[in-house]
Amino acid sequence: MLSERMSRIDPSGVRRMFSLASRMENPLNFSLGQPDADVPDEIKEVLIEAIRRGCNRYSPTAGYPELLEAVAAKLKTKNGINAEPTNILITAGVSGGLNLSYSALFDPGDELIMADPYFVLYKELARFLGAVPRFVDTYPTFDLKAEQVERLITSKTKAIMINSPNNPTGAVIEPEELEKLAWVARRHDLLVISDEIYEDFVYQRRHFSIGSIYEKTLTLNGLSKSHAMMGWRLGYAHGPRELIQAMSELQQYSFVCAPTLVQVAAVRALQTSSEGIVGQHRHKRNIVVETLGDRFTIHGAQGAFYVFLEAPDGDGDAFVDRAVEQNVFVVPGSTFSEKHSHFRMCYAVPDDVLIKGTEILKTLK
Ligand code: PMP
Repeated sequence: MLSERMSRIDPSGVRRMFSLASRMENPLNFSLGQPDADVPDEIKEVLIEAIRRGCNRYSPTAGYPELLEAVAAKLKTKNGINAEPTNILITAGVSGGLNLSYSALFDPGDELIMADPYFVLYKELARFLGAVPRFVDTYPTFDLKAEQVERLITSKTKAIMINSPNNPTGAVIEPEELEKLAWVARRHDLLVISDEIYEDFVYQRRHFSIGSIYEKTLTLNGLSKSHAMMGWRLGYAHGPRELIQAMSELQQYSFVCAPTLVQVAAVRALQTSSEGIVGQHRHKRNIVVETLGDRFTIHGAQGAFYVFLEAPDGDGDAFVDRAVEQNVFVVPGSTFSEKHSHFRMCYAVPDDVLIKGTEILKTLK
């Protein structure tokens, strides 16, 4: 019944762990990557009001003009990107932006360079389209280096995928390295796709957007993490006009538009600070570093809300099995990597769960 390309993708290992955990009683669940917070009340009110006012129809494909203006203003002031509303598309989450951009860009055989470990969607979606993911091995520190990227460039390379802060490692790419990456991309005339969904979750300094120094960048972002709006499905893409136009055409035949009422609420969300949510996660990160730092060497973890740790015997899959026996749900590193030595822990959970869980992980053999 199914297409041949369906056989090229694997179901998400994260989802597998999450559904396993949801069948258990009181699991200590560190599997799914969503912030431990709810949407701020003022944004909820705007959404409810939008429904009552009748914002229940389709919006223009690209998004409501007011939201396009608000996103352009945000990209200019916060990210230093010279953004115009005409180069922006409102998407159904960053996942929507990834789907549309990859579909618009990749023919079978085209190559896409990305860091390993990677966010699963980058690899699976590329493979689904017949494109070839080329991995930069960033173990053990998880720092993506421009020179490593450059070595993987071939005549088939179409784009370089960047994700800082990174899921699953929490690694943040330094501005100096992003400058070098921009330089490499410029020299080879390549598109950079920059997934900045964790931009607010940078704990030691401010986020830097590569789109501010390299115009051939597709910047993807959204409100799932910063405003805990995961289920509302709101993202945005900014980039070269030709690409945004193509993505918009594909949106007409797929998502049609991002949820209309959420677009109205998103204008408010962009004016609402995420400092409270980010502060809570900074605190949780500190708990993890303090409790697990003795037992595991922690690399990355400068941002997002994940730690990616090496299993004591170098077998992440077996370690996860032993953790599950103790009712602790973490995700095997092999879900996000060509290697299987590590596991991912999402620390965006209530503090009591975090403390109990880290105590167990510390003692697991
Ligand atoms: N990119 C990264 C790196 C993510 O971790 C996630 C969510 N886990 C997404 C994109 C997708 O987010 P959205 O809810 O905006 O589709």
